Amino acid sequence: MKESQNIITIIGCSGFIGSHLLERILNTTKAFVYGIDLNSKKIQPFISNSRFEFLKTDISDIKSIKPVLQKSSIVVSLTALCNPSLYNTVTLKVIESNYNKPVEIVKLCCEYGCRFIHFSTCEVYGRTVESYCRESTLESVLKEDETPFVTGPIHMQRWSYSSAKQLLERTIFAYGVEHALKYTIVRPFNFIGPRMDFIPGIDGEGIPRVLACFMDALIFNKPLFLVDGGKNRRCFTYIDDAVDAVMAIIKNKKIADKQVFNIGNPDNEITIEQLAYKMIGLYKELQPQKTSSLYDVKPISSLRFYGEGYQDCDRRVPDISKAQSLLGWVPHTDLDTALKKTMSAYIEHYNG
Ligand code: UDP
Repeated sequence: MKESQNIITIIGCSGFIGSHLLERILNTTKAFVYGIDLNSKKIQPFISNSRFEFLKTDISDIKSIKPVLQKSSIVVSLTALCNPSLYNTVTLKVIESNYNKPVEIVKLCCEYGCRFIHFSTCEVYGRTVESYCRESTLESVLKEDETPFVTGPIHMQRWSYSSAKQLLERTIFAYGVEHALKYTIVRPFNFIGPRMDFIPGIDGEGIPRVLACFMDALIFNKPLFLVDGGKNRRCFTYIDDAVDAVMAIIKNKKIADKQVFNIGNPDNEITIEQLAYKMIGLYKELQPQKTSSLYDVKPISSLRFYGEGYQDCDRRVPDISKAQSLLGWVPHTDLDTALKKTMSAYIEHYNG
């Protein structure tokens, strides 16, 4: 039994999800939080909170992290290289950051008896079976404990992230079976909201995820690129709904133990092409004075946009009935509201 049941460590607390989770925990609970990250840019308002202590380090710095984990009752693990443009370009780093480094944290949580809440990815599901065999009658809705994982050949390095995350899930599961690790695995489906990603050349380099790519285009008058025509689909989930789910997992210790949860909004499915036009419409509403904008939408091949070894997930619709029945969780934010809130935050942050 831990001395304190009320110490939560968030590994990756200054990322998009971590910063929102930290804010919610500090604002709605009495827990003390240790935050671990490489920088504290996104969590400046919380740095001086008396119930928060920030440790600036990499998760491979086990010596510094050990004493924090020893004191913690819950560890939320969020660190990842989780940007698709990296999967086929810095593949070894992706595997290291998504398997080799976090697996050491899994072992420590097991040793110290911490509850381990791990952020995996909807990308473990890979592509739909239908994308390979069109005649298949299998359902394309993804179920945590039933749907097989369908990725691609090894030279399609896009799947490095999915595979590393999958192996970590399998390792966590095995630690649960063989060493009684207490864990919950979260599979996020395209979370969006304020503080996500970056604008290339302003506060980051490379290619961010689609939301940020389109905001970059809208704010700075560039074309919105539709990779391979933008026919693939995603279910976008608002960050506040996602944090509601994590809070329900934290609260429901017994029910959530050894479970995998899809956390996503199946009602917010849209093709990337439709997303581009929807975001143009919303941007015009939010910024009516910007009359000189081009709003140019252009198709581009994935080879040109991401390089060799990129393959796309065609569709990922979460079945969320498990989260609903066990945690009482359902997402409430529709796509237009989620986009408006996210886009407004970008406009404010980048003077767009
Ligand atoms: N995409 C696009 N234009 C962009 C950026 C991304 O068409 O400027 C596409 C990408 O090929 C994928 C979808 O948008 O089909 C979502 O990509 P994202 O990087 O957001 O993450 P993913 O959901 O693939 O993990």
